This record gives sequence, structure tokens and C-alpha cells, in this order.
Amino acid sequence: MATKRIAVLTSGGDAQGMNAAVRAVVRTALAKGAEVYAISEGYQGLVDGGGLIQKMDWDSVGGILHRGGTIIGTARSDEFRTREGRRRAARNLIQQGIDGLVVIGGDGSLTGADIFRREWPELVSELVKAGEITAKAGGAYPNLLIVGLVGSIDNDFSGPDMTIGADSALHRITEAIDAITSTAASHQRTFIVKVMGRNCGYLALYSALATGADWVLIPEAPPDVDNWQEVMVERLKAGTKAGRRDHIVILAEGARDRYGKYIGSTDVQRVLEQHLGEEVRVTVLGHVQRGGRPSAYDRILGTLLGYEAVVTLLGAKPEDEPVVVGTKANHITHFPLMECVEKTHAVAEAIAAKDYEKAMSLRSTSFKDAFNTLKTVVRALPHAPAPGQKRFRIAVMNAGAPAPGMNTAARAAVRLGMDQGHILLGIENGFDGFAKGEVSEMDWMSVSGWASLGGSVLGTSRIVPQGADLYAIARTIETNKIEALLVIGGWDAYEAVHSMLTSRPNFPAFDIPIVCLPASINNNLPGTEFSIGADTALNSIVEAVDKIKQSAVATRRCFVVEVMGHWSGYLALMSGMATGAERVYIPEEGVTLKDMQADVETLNRGFDAGRRLGLIIRAEYANAIYNTAFMCALFEEEGRDVFDVRPAILGHLQQGGDPSPFDRIQATRLARLCLGYLIDECTKGSSNCAFIGLQKGQINFHDMRDFERMIDDKVERPREQWWLELKGIASMMAKLEVES
Ligand code: ATP
Ligand code: MG
Repeated sequence: MATKRIAVLTSGGDAQGMNAAVRAVVRTALAKGAEVYAISEGYQGLVDGGGLIQKMDWDSVGGILHRGGTIIGTARSDEFRTREGRRRAARNLIQQGIDGLVVIGGDGSLTGADIFRREWPELVSELVKAGEITAKAGGAYPNLLIVGLVGSIDNDFSGPDMTIGADSALHRITEAIDAITSTAASHQRTFIVKVMGRNCGYLALYSALATGADWVLIPEAPPDVDNWQEVMVERLKAGTKAGRRDHIVILAEGARDRYGKYIGSTDVQRVLEQHLGEEVRVTVLGHVQRGGRPSAYDRILGTLLGYEAVVTLLGAKPEDEPVVVGTKANHITHFPLMECVEKTHAVAEAIAAKDYEKAMSLRSTSFKDAFNTLKTVVRALPHAPAPGQKRFRIAVMNAGAPAPGMNTAARAAVRLGMDQGHILLGIENGFDGFAKGEVSEMDWMSVSGWASLGGSVLGTSRIVPQGADLYAIARTIETNKIEALLVIGGWDAYEAVHSMLTSRPNFPAFDIPIVCLPASINNNLPGTEFSIGADTALNSIVEAVDKIKQSAVATRRCFVVEVMGHWSGYLALMSGMATGAERVYIPEEGVTLKDMQADVETLNRGFDAGRRLGLIIRAEYANAIYNTAFMCALFEEEGRDVFDVRPAILGHLQQGGDPSPFDRIQATRLARLCLGYLIDECTKGSSNCAFIGLQKGQINFHDMRDFERMIDDKVERPREQWWLELKGIASMMAKLEVES
């Protein structure tokens, strides 16, 4: 059978992470024995052909993972919208022997792809009739196979949970708003920040949630009253009265009022200046949102989707309906292409028809939940408790090693709890402070600014209480009349709560509902695919490795980068995938002498063939004997004068930093659910002890009694780790050479 030839193109607006997808398409195709072409300038390149269709090899997509935009260029092509244009496109493909296409773009690009695919047989026979291709050539390509990937910063595509580029855009927006917030607070100013998203409020809504903004206007949910300007002004004034020094209003570019009239940033500015009597500044974020380095998530998403696109394309049969490959509930999934496009258009049509209820109903449940949560956390002050309402005393604490996002979770818990009329207590310095009785009542403004703040304001400690400490903690619970407890933390926090549970027979005070919220950069907690902080740590590692790689220009150097994670290889594997490391060592697999010998050989061959850089990422506990120093010494000695070796131990920069948007969003979401759980338990008069988790897109509360059963105690990690199955793809992408 002839070698399969496929091609990849990027079309429509560019998005960060498209390069990762292109790289994965090219390398997967080569690894699977297919030939692969890149079409420059989107569909225009397909129409024009010639030098715009180029054969790719392994190295032509080297060194692009960290770059924003798309290296093969994108365009909007009017010619491709015409039948004549598509006929030329078909001819160009057939002349190159290509009959499989990966299209990376938005709804428009995917619609175009579908039209092209359906017309293909007719286009081919026309070309034969016109003598532009031979009958034999025409007969050899009866069908065109297509797989779509959605690249768009707007996250406006129905079907997949995330489009390639949306997470990076959220990074840009939150960085900008964090920066604006600090200057706004210094001058007691109000800022209006306009963000992209067209008909989709995703970027506006989630950036508001992530930054603790005061007001947000999105297309799917216009203000439901005519005098919304007054309501907004009142809200901001109340905020000032409550002690806020700054105000941030986030405006989606597609926002409108309930009559469908677009809301412009100057309209909002005028209203606010008039009524607040202070300067109001407008920042239109514009194209910075599209630019810059892709986030770790987008690099990994692009890689996994690019891989799956090629596997799908190579296995597709002509009668198969075209699919979009995307992610749903953290799993790579196939979606029917045209159905997704139609649903995407339905949202836009509903908004145009002012049927906002329908528009909102077409969004995901988490989108709706996020919107409702936001409405509460942005309040200047909580709703007053209902008369006669039972007010529970709920305590919130951090425990274990610090993880970015702990403050975000605590803030959401305090505000959501207070808004429902309950009394929220803050415990300082983890279980240490708990034993010492460091408890105080929180108020609404005490958590102001916490959404975006790294570290732990409440303070945390790694002690797991035993003996006398347990006694002291029981006393603290009694003296403060604590009726429920939320513990935001990692492994030590879980162990501590587990030990409270098992000591209930001795300490009746522990017989209150308790819930653990996973917060650990190690992502090593049972019952959840993600813990808060891991995404931030991953991004910090990726940023550091990008810089390390750049420093090695023009040297022949191998870096051995050591990352954290305890006995979990999550950070190592994921950062390896996001930075293109040639080799990743994780504790789940260990390190053998044979592995390192093989590395030396590949490194030698690679550097001999002209490579300038090698990158090995190892998890801190991959092997206690073959540690980073040992590995470096061995490679240095064996590499002789072919290459030299440098260690880079990243250390605590991985625990620090302000939380990433994803961590802030998850922290808020999980805190809301934990609070709901505790209030529910208190209301029912029961005292279950649980830990929350996010698995396969579902939120679950696991009974703390199952903790021991779900973990491997010796290595402090869950028995099941979903991400291990990604190892094969990660190592395939970054091999120094392909067997031919
Ligand atoms: P985004 O909207 O996220 O920027 P997109 O892919 O939706 O991305 P569009 O400008 O809508 O961007 O489409 C990109 C290109 O896809 C168009 O310039 C055109 O070449 C092609 N295309 C779009 N719609 C069609 C169509 N109905 N028929 C043929 N080609 C189309
Ligand atoms: Mg579009």
C-alpha cells in the first residue's frame, strides 16, 4: 500500500497552542510511517498551492512548543469560500497525493472543511473532465478525510470543554487585571477592562471569577433590569463603603443590554464617572490576549489533540462522519463536526434574537454555576441572615505545604458561607495553630484581594497532630463552638483529618462534619484528577525550563532539571510534555542504569547529528541513589567532549507564585461545593467526614474512611493516577530521532 500522505493547516484567528498541535500532528504522522505536509496561510495556501504546501520532517517542528501564534501562518480566505477556489485547492492536494487533512481553526474553518469534504467527489470529476488531473489521479483519491481541532482563544465552540488557546488567553487577561488592580487600589480608581470573546462570555466570566472583579457584563446574560447602570453604581458605592479601594468592571466585547444594544466601554465609563465622582479608566486588552507564550495546559492540550487527530485520520474510513477531536471531562473525545458547528451557531442566533435564556441554556453547567457563584462573591456585603435562621459556625483552615490557590479557596468559602447567613471562622497556621487555639471570626472584607494571591494568608503548617495536640484541638473546637470544618490542603492535611476521624471515640468534639479540599502542587491526592496548585506549579516549571533552554543556544549542552512532586511524577511528566523534554524520569517507574546508558547513547547520537540541546526532567524522588547529581556526573563523564551537562534544581519557586487562572477557578468551584456539603451536613445533624474531588468531569465527595483504601501509603500517592497513560505520547513527541 502506498504511504499515506496527510496535511495540516491552521485557519481563522490564531491561538496559543496551535504550534503544539502542529508539532504533534507532524511527529505522530512520521512516527506512524505517514508523510506529512504543512499548508501555510490557512485555506489560502491550499488554494494557491506551490511553495505554500511543504513536506515536513521531524526537525521542522522543533523548538516551537513555547512560541505563541502559529508558525505555519493563518489567514482568512475569501477564495476558499468560492467553489472555484475549492476546486483549485482539490487540485493542489491531489497533485501532492494528499487525501487527509487536519484543520485547526474555529467554527468557520471547520464549516469550510466540511463543505470541501462533501464537494470533493464532484470537484475531482470536474478536474478530470477539464483535463487538469488525469483520470488515474482522480480515481486514486475518491474521498477526502478530515479531522478538526478547535483553535480559538474565545472558547466559543460547542462540544469540547476547552478550545486550544483559551487557557493562555485567560492567563494574559488575569495577569493584566492583577496588574491593573494593584495600580487601581493605590489610587482608589475604577477600571473598566474590555476583553475578547465575541458571542461568548467565557473569558470575561472566568477572568472576573479569577481576579475578584466587581462587576461583569457578558453576552449570554445581559442585566435583567433597565436601570442596570444604577444597580452597578450602587454596588460599587457599597463596595467603597465596605472598604474596597479599587473597582474593576469586566466587559465582554459582545456584551449588550436586554434589548440587544451593545454596551460600549465609554458608555459604562460615562455612567461611572458621573455617579462615582472619580476618574474611571478604560483598558481594552485587544490582541495581547492572543499573543505570548502558550500556557502549560494549551501545550499539553495541543499535543494530545494533535496526536489523536492523526491516529483518527489514519484509521478513518471514507464513510465516517467527520469529527472534531477535543477534550471533555478531561478525556480526549470525538465529536460530530457539523453538530458542534450547528450548536455553536445556535448560541449566536439565540443572542441575536435576544433569547438569552436559550443562550445560557446552551452553555455548560459549570459556566452557569460559575456565573451564579460570581454573583455572590462580587457582592459588597453578604445578604443578612434570614430571621430565625440557624447560623452555623464553620471554620476554614489551610494545612500541609503551601499551594497556590489556597487563599482563593478560603475567600470563596468565607464569602459564600457568610452570604448564606453563617459565621465563618479562620484557623491560623494549620493544625499547629488549631492546637494553639488561633481562631478568629472572619468578615467579608477580611478576604478581599485573596482571589489572586499566592501563598497562604491564614498560614499553614505541615504537622500532623497526635497525642496532646489532638486533645488541644478538641478543646479549640469546644471553646470556639466550631460546628463544621473545611480543611484546604495536601497530603498532611488529609492525614491529619483522617487521624481526627479515627480518634473520634476518644474525642467527641471531632464528631462534626469535616471536608478536605485538595490543595497540593504534587497532585498526589486520592479521589481527584487535579489538586489546587498543581497547574500553577506546572506553569512555573514550564516558564523556568523555557528560559533554561534559551540559555543553551549555541552550546552542546544537556540539562537535567529536577522538579518537585514527592512520589508523584505528575509535574515531571506534564512539564516534560509541555517543554519537549527528551526524557522524563518519574518515581512510578524509577531509574535504572540501563535507562541512563540508553540516554547517553541517544544524547551522543543526537549531538553528533548537530543537536545543540538535550533536556531531561526528573522528579525529585525518581530514585534516591541515582539522584540528580549522580545523573549529571554520569552523563558528563560519558558525554566526554561531545556535550556537557548542567543540573537545574528548580526548588521552591514551584510552590510560590500567584495562582494560575485554572487553579483559581477550580479553587472557587470546589470551595463552593465543600461549603454546600458542610451546611447540608449541619442542617441534617450528621457529621460525615469527606474529601472532595474532580473525576471524569464529576464532582465527588469520598468518605474519609476510604482514604487508606485509595492510597499507597508507602509512597504517599493514590493507587490510580490517570495521567500515567500519557507517558507514551509524551515520549513519542520528543524522541531525538525516529526509526525509519
Ligand atoms: P475564528 O472565528 O475563531 O477566528 P474561524 O475559523 O471561525 O476562526 P473564519 O474567518 O470564520 O474563522 O473562517 C476562516 C476561514 O475558513 C475563512 O476565511 C474561509 O476561508 C473558511 N471558511 C469559513 N466559512 C466557510 C464556508 N462556509 N465555506 C468555505 N470556507 C469557509
Ligand atoms: Mg468564527
